[in-house]
Amino acid sequence: MKKFLTALFVFSITTVNIFAVDMSAEINSATDKILPQVVEWRRHLHQYPELGNREFKTGEYIEKNLRRLGLEVRTKIAHTGVVGILKGDLPGATIGLRADMDGLPVSERVNLPFASKEKTEYNGSPVGVMHACGHDTHVAMLLGTAEVLSKMKSKLRGTVVFIFQPAEEGAPVGEEGGAALMVKEGVMDNPKIDAIFGIHINAQTEIGKIRYKSGSFMAAADWFTIKVKGKQTHGSQPWLGVDPIAVATQIINGLQMIVSRQSELTKAPVVITIGKINGGVRENIIPEELTMAGTIRTLDDAMQKDVHERIKTTAQRIAESMGATAEVSIDTKTLVTYNTPELVKQMLPSLERAIGKANVYETEWTTGAEDFSYYRLKAPAFFFNVGGMPKGINVKDSAPHHTPDFFIDDSRLDVGIRAFCNIVFDYQPTAKTAGVANDKSAAEVLSGQVPVENYFPAQFFDVPFQPFKYKSVLAF
Ligand SMILES: [Zn+2]
Ligand SMILES: [Zn+2]
Repeated sequence: MKKFLTALFVFSITTVNIFAVDMSAEINSATDKILPQVVEWRRHLHQYPELGNREFKTGEYIEKNLRRLGLEVRTKIAHTGVVGILKGDLPGATIGLRADMDGLPVSERVNLPFASKEKTEYNGSPVGVMHACGHDTHVAMLLGTAEVLSKMKSKLRGTVVFIFQPAEEGAPVGEEGGAALMVKEGVMDNPKIDAIFGIHINAQTEIGKIRYKSGSFMAAADWFTIKVKGKQTHGSQPWLGVDPIAVATQIINGLQMIVSRQSELTKAPVVITIGKINGGVRENIIPEELTMAGTIRTLDDAMQKDVHERIKTTAQRIAESMGATAEVSIDTKTLVTYNTPELVKQMLPSLERAIGKANVYETEWTTGAEDFSYYRLKAPAFFFNVGGMPKGINVKDSAPHHTPDFFIDDSRLDVGIRAFCNIVFDYQPTAKTAGVANDKSAAEVLSGQVPVENYFPAQFFDVPFQPFKYKSVLAF
């Protein structure tokens, strides 16, 4: 009996392995076949980029291709977003795969036959438009994945939701958009997505490689404004007024003290940058007020909230000490892009099988940001990078994202397709990899269920902690 059971066990293991190998062989040959078409899609999209919330032609292009595959298609989600739903013939979980669609107000300088010559208006000024972050490759790889998987429908367990999302780089002033709006419009709810995956091409990672990080991967990005109000006076008699410029210099120093003296930097990095100062009209007038604006980057939900409180306290108290006032407003652009560790652990073998173990490696976290982070409020998530840098090039010589010289080698777009397809076939919903927001839920922190006082005692401040009015894109 024992022998029989052992034999049965060995047989079942072997069967599972054979099954897995069979699927990836099929995925590989289907991907190889479609790769030239995927490159063609990518180059078309590259030539005709559109800005966030204005991806009208891009949306139509995606819709046309999804309809050709016979998928259920939903359009005009979060303005120009498109969703395709593929139901496998076998029962199983629902997986979300996401690509962003928008270009940037950058004029392309790369000498390519399919370089963008598009022009438009951005915040009232004429600008060139370019896929300077590589979102064209994301759309092409996700369309390729839809093509491969729809041909394997008879063997597919569960449902795949292909999410084509507008405005990842931010919506135009005064408009909502991006992942936050997609979530608000219910893209994760109908059908209910068990786990979501996303990729970003990377111009500093060699083609053929995937890099990932478990846990916090990319930073939360907040934009903030501090308005300092003083009292106008003659430049020769500062004692008759209150100089907001002098106050602002103290505040800027104070903000860096939050980073260097008050944040637990061994836990996660913090960056506070002032990128803009406006104040004053001429040499001998001390102005009435001054406005400065900047960005905050954090990689931990509680630290994000903590830094917000400290910025408010620091600015207000310094202003107060000099007879001025400071108004602080903070606008959250993205949350921490947090990769659910159990999901990463479960899917890593699939990535390794997709492109070879030696080509998949863990990387450091980054202070760059991604609005993919909003999807994790609804389901466990995994976001990773696919290489787009030509072989043999020094990382320092590869133009950064968002620049006119940004270039992606599109000869290995198969990497994203292979990764997505293997994930879809291998994913297993468990208590920790399906269904609910992950254990380190941003939703909890943002909704105040994890009070920031727990993270740092209120007694630190000499007055009771004032609950901070959190201005977020969504009312989660
Ligand atoms: Zn970007
Ligand atoms: Zn991007």
